[in-house]
Order: sequence, then structure tokens, then C-alpha cells
Amino acid sequence: MANMANRGSGAQDVGRRGARARRDGDGQTAASHYFQPPIRRARAPRLAAGLGAAPAVGIAVRGVEVTQVVQSLNNTVRLIADKPTVVRVYLDPQSFAGTTIVTAEITWRRGGGGAFYWPAMNRVRMNPANPLGIDEQRFDIDQSINFSLPNEAIAAGDIELRLNRVMVPGGPDIPLAPQPVIRLTFRPSPPLRIRVVGLRYRNRANTPVTVTPDAVHFNALKSYLLRAYPVSALEWSQIVIDGNARLTLPFDPPNRAATAVFVNAQLSALRGSEVFGMNLSGAETAHIDPRTHYYGLVDVDGKNGATVNFMRGQADYNEQTKEFQMVASGPCGVPKTNGWVLFSWDTDSSFADWYGAHELGHTFQRRHPGFPRYNPQTGTGQPHDPDETGFPYPDGLISTPDNIFVGFDIGDPDLGVPRRALPGNTYHDVMTYADNQWLSAHTYEGIHERLLLEDELFAPKVG
Ligand SMILES: [Zn+2]
Repeated sequence: MANMANRGSGAQDVGRRGARARRDGDGQTAASHYFQPPIRRARAPRLAAGLGAAPAVGIAVRGVEVTQVVQSLNNTVRLIADKPTVVRVYLDPQSFAGTTIVTAEITWRRGGGGAFYWPAMNRVRMNPANPLGIDEQRFDIDQSINFSLPNEAIAAGDIELRLNRVMVPGGPDIPLAPQPVIRLTFRPSPPLRIRVVGLRYRNRANTPVTVTPDAVHFNALKSYLLRAYPVSALEWSQIVIDGNARLTLPFDPPNRAATAVFVNAQLSALRGSEVFGMNLSGAETAHIDPRTHYYGLVDVDGKNGATVNFMRGQADYNEQTKEFQMVASGPCGVPKTNGWVLFSWDTDSSFADWYGAHELGHTFQRRHPGFPRYNPQTGTGQPHDPDETGFPYPDGLISTPDNIFVGFDIGDPDLGVPRRALPGNTYHDVMTYADNQWLSAHTYEGIHERLLLEDELFAPKVG
């Protein structure tokens, strides 16, 4: 059981389960091109007494953050066109005279066009007697004044955005000095092309005898990829097929190549046929876009409280070219039940989501940054891939220790996933083996670059 939840991208992979990132405090920070110094602004004078009584200086704005998946307070992480985008406004509670419920309005414009006024979707209580710090505001989606940008604003290209008004809902405006214009660029991204293949296998100990992934695992992965990857759309298809003869229990036998190697071989053959294939009579069988990545799901089969069959994940890797192929596979199942705990930090109904995002991250040439640190004595942790040279954050987190980066999950009502902020001091990059997984800016932008490259490189030949 100890190695049950391990997974990986190659023969070196060991030790995911139970490991947490350590806080060594080392790693790359200032050398990174992601590193940005915190904004330092003089705090504006407090309102003298009561609302509207202050002179034109008004309340202090700590920051305006435009976020999709992860963002810095200086908006240095690239924005993807047509991807749901939330503007978060942080006001300084100490610039209010008393406890005040506030909301706000922004304006945005594209090119030389006229300005559109856009309202916030919430209201926030500002309490100068017990003021929240900027980190506390950023770590809680309910502590910022939030705006969901309209489709016209997030189309590809440049816009200008400005905090226009802060007011008591239904009440007076609160004095606000003219705010700086924020210039944003929304960059196009190709769709994420994924074909997910559920693989059946036989488990004679349980009924039913045939094990097939539940629908929730397909949906959880699909939702997570759309929320967390640098895309606005998926080209998604899913099928269930019988696993080949090598997909038999027990999985991952010691001292042999992992079961996932054989699953990937089966998927590669399927992919070859569907993407490039001809049948024996020479007829064209190809019907899948050559830019499509294939991902295999193998269920842990925890039904009836019996044993859990955990197939450690793996991405297909060419050791000669040092390139990942566009095929990977991994386990799916419920993170924890009354019967077992695979991933205690994951409280929802599937771990196929972030697990699949890790393996698919490999297929976009993302590598192991090496967190938690590999311990050769216990075999726990993640060996650092020497070809991953640029991971900028200590301990595999999604931020430098100054909390300049904060993650953001737009959520998914269909799956009961809440919209929330993901603190950069507790969330780890999806390419690590650590808890609380999300995409750092490093991985996010790396996958976007690869998507753009593949979109050209592997485009279908015309004619
Ligand atoms: Zn891996």
C-alpha cells in the first residue's frame, strides 16, 4: 500500500504519497523573470469623519488584480483570450472612517472605442478597527471587490481598464482619487485537444467483474483542464475500450516496468490509427486532429470496499530525444472514503482531475521540479528532472514567499466546485508531488507556449 499513490513520468518516479513540501526557504526567487517586487504605495489619509466628508484624496486602493488561473499583484501573468476573467479590487480598510459595506464600478475600453461601465458582483465589508492585510484579502475571494469581465472585454487584443467608482450600495459615492489606467493584453490560445480513453480490466475478486471508470472522473478531469489550463476551450472526446492483456492485476509489480507503460503502448497504437492510420485495405481511418493528446484512465476499483488497484501514472517519454510523446495514462478514483485514503488533502469526488493535469502537463513537455525533495533513503519525494532548470518558486509552491502570486479557481457549479482564491503559500505546482495542486505561472505559461508551438508544428496537412 505504501507505494499505492505513487505516480510518475518515467522509471525514476517514486514516492508521491504522504509527502509534503518542506519549507526549506531556498530555491530561486529574485533570479526568476517572474519575480516582481511588491507594490509600495503611500497610504492615503483616512477619511476625516463619516462618508463623503473627505477631500478629493479619498480612500486608498491597494491593488487591482486581473486573474484567470494565477496572477501577481502587478498583473504580470499572461491573460488568455475568451477565458473567464475576474478583476479583484483591494481597498485599504484603514482609509475608511468606520465599518462600511462597499461595492464598486470599473470602466473598460478597447482601442479608441468608448468606455463601458461595469459593476462589481459583490460587496465587501471594510472594517478599519480590525483591518485585513493585503494577503488576507487576496487569499479570500470574498474579501475583494470582484468583477466578472464580459465576453467583449476578454476577446483577443488590448483593453484599458480603470477603477471608476467606489460606493455604498444604494448610497453615496466614496471619495476616490482618479485611478491609473491598467493596460491588459488578452492572448489567443489554441483549444486544448484531449481524447480520454477509459480502459476496462477484469477484477475477479469483485462484482462486477469488469472495472470501468465512473463518469465523474471524466467530468472532473474535463472541468479541471478547462479551469486550470491556459485555454478557453477544449476539443474533447472520450471513449471506453478494453485494456489489452497487460492491463491485469496486480498493477505496478515491483522490479518490472509499470503497468502504465503497457497502457501507453496501447494508447499510442490507438492514437496512430485514429490520427494517421489507414486500415488493411488502404482506406483512410484517420479522424482525429494530430494535435490531440491521449490520456488513459484506469479506475482504482474501490467498490465493495475491497482492495484498491492503483495504477501509477506515467507519460510516454522518448529517452533518446528527451521529449515526451502525446500519450499518458493514470489512475482515477475517489481520493478518500471510509475504506481508504489515497489523497487526504483532496476532498472532492475524484482525483482524476489534478492527477490527469500532471500527466498531461508532461505531454506538453513539463518536467518534475523536484518537490517534495527526493529522499533516497525512504524513496519518498520527487527526483528533480535536470532538464527542468527554471522552476522559480521554493518548495514547489505557486508563489515566491512574498505571496506575490495567488491562484484563482473560477469553480464549476456542475461539479460543486466553489469559486475561490488559492493562496500561494499553501498551493503547489501541479508538476510536483506535493499537496494542494494548481498551476503556477511557470507551468501555465510553459503549457501555453507549447500549445502555440504544437498548433503550428502538428497542424493537419491541407490538401
Ligand atoms: Zn510526473
